[in-house]
Amino acid sequence: MVGSMYAVTLTCSDRDCELEVVEVVSSLAEVELLVCGGCGCCLQAVGFAEAVEARAVAPVVLPLAA
Ligand SMILES: [Zn+2]
Repeated sequence: MVGSMYAVTLTCSDRDCELEVVEVVSSLAEVELLVCGGCGCCLQAVGFAEAVEARAVAPVVLPLAA
């Protein structure tokens, strides 16, 4: 295990959808793959924090390994 984990705060780009999630990712490239679980629009990253302890942030499980 190498590299940092990031806790990324994301909001839906659809203004009618107020979904906000915090996703823990190991690279910022993963953020671009994330879409809103509610409406399927792209998510916008609005904040980053380095997740020193990933356990401290509740992970949102997405089916990335489909
Ligand atoms: Zn949405």
